[in-house]
Amino acid sequence: MDYELILVRYGELTLKGRNRKKFEDLMFLKLKQALRTFEAVQYEKNFGRVYIQLNGESYDEVAAKLQEIFGLHSFSPVLRASHELEDIRDKALQLMQSERPVPKTFKVTVKRAWKEYPHDSQEMNHLVGAHVLRNTPELKVDVRHPDVELKVDIQPQGVFLYSSMIPGAGGFPLGMNGKAMLMLSGGIDSPVAGWMAMRKGLEIEAIHFHSYPFTSEQATEKVITLTQRLAHYGGKIKLHLVPFTDLQTRMAQSGHEHLIITFMRRAMLRIAEKLAERSGALAIVTGDSLGQVASQTLSSMNVIGRTISIPLLRPLVMMDKLDIIRYAEKIGTYETSILPFEDCCTLFVPKSPATNPNLRVVESAEAAWGDELKRMIDEAVNNTETIVMTPAGRLVRKSERQPEPAAEDRWF
Ligand code: ATP
Ligand code: MG
Repeated sequence: MDYELILVRYGELTLKGRNRKKFEDLMFLKLKQALRTFEAVQYEKNFGRVYIQLNGESYDEVAAKLQEIFGLHSFSPVLRASHELEDIRDKALQLMQSERPVPKTFKVTVKRAWKEYPHDSQEMNHLVGAHVLRNTPELKVDVRHPDVELKVDIQPQGVFLYSSMIPGAGGFPLGMNGKAMLMLSGGIDSPVAGWMAMRKGLEIEAIHFHSYPFTSEQATEKVITLTQRLAHYGGKIKLHLVPFTDLQTRMAQSGHEHLIITFMRRAMLRIAEKLAERSGALAIVTGDSLGQVASQTLSSMNVIGRTISIPLLRPLVMMDKLDIIRYAEKIGTYETSILPFEDCCTLFVPKSPATNPNLRVVESAEAAWGDELKRMIDEAVNNTETIVMTPAGRLVRKSERQPEPAAEDRWF
């Protein structure tokens, strides 16, 4: 089917006043950014809705891109007809016959926004509906619960017809709600947490802790690939690679074997908070899910979370693993996440990590390390390496570059 237009609806309709205006302006900007490679595309704004004129660009390709944009509630492929009744009827029939799965029932809803049109909406419902029925014998009318609702919108500049409504990602346009740091391991959960944070309008920068040479280069490559995948939704994403070997080795010698994971998580959060401060981020996002492992019991979360004073956001906290996996598959991170490379936390894992760590014991052990702990944390922050990922791969700094860069490869 050659659709000429796509009707786009924005999400979060409950927004009011100034927030609404901000939402719509940012949304329109994100829409144009996401579709900038489709050069022929043009836009028409109409009361909080946007029509995309395809002008020959592929509907399927544009539609795939639209589903990645946060803040978008839904969209519909649209056929455009002239004001001629014959043309409207033809297009209505074409649309209904292209519906999959094949509907058993339908209804027509005509909206006559252009009041000078000779037939009123009731008449038009019949004129269009009868034509569809005559040419599709299996189809019946059901005005209450139709399989398909065929909408016909009569405007001065033409008639717009659509029948399907494809859900968008929902949420807020990226960046509308500020910035957060995502603790990104190579596992299944944290990329999903990152996607959810972005869907809520948070710009993210990712932080990964590696224990090279105990963890392999492939383990880091895996996280780089995950960040690149997330960049399909976020445009450009910074990835901070933090050397964690020294801290981890030190903690393994603490004499509190069952608390190693607790110490590690606390140190990670302290580093993440410092990096957040440097980047102007106001929260830290993790992939924790209640009860999943020892470090994610409520008691562990309590002892670990107390380390920092900025908000710690755990989007998956109440979700079941199967639901998380479904999201991972949908957003395209699952395949990478299940590759079998070790994470730094799987090294030195005690046989029985504490599920109920004692805050006082943890704090006094850390106090005993005194300045050494502070120094090691500062060192890890200072030796952090930052790279920038785009959907196409790593962005290379001018000083690292060999040949002339392509236009899209520039630092922002
Ligand atoms: P994931 O699938 O995200 O790895 P998980 O169920 O394996 O989660 P843990 O390994 O205990 O759980 O990690 C809990 C959270 O801590 C992760 O979701 C992530 O946010 C953070 N985290 C763990 N390891 C690292 C790491 N090496 N670098 C950055 N963040 C990490
Ligand atoms: Mg993990």
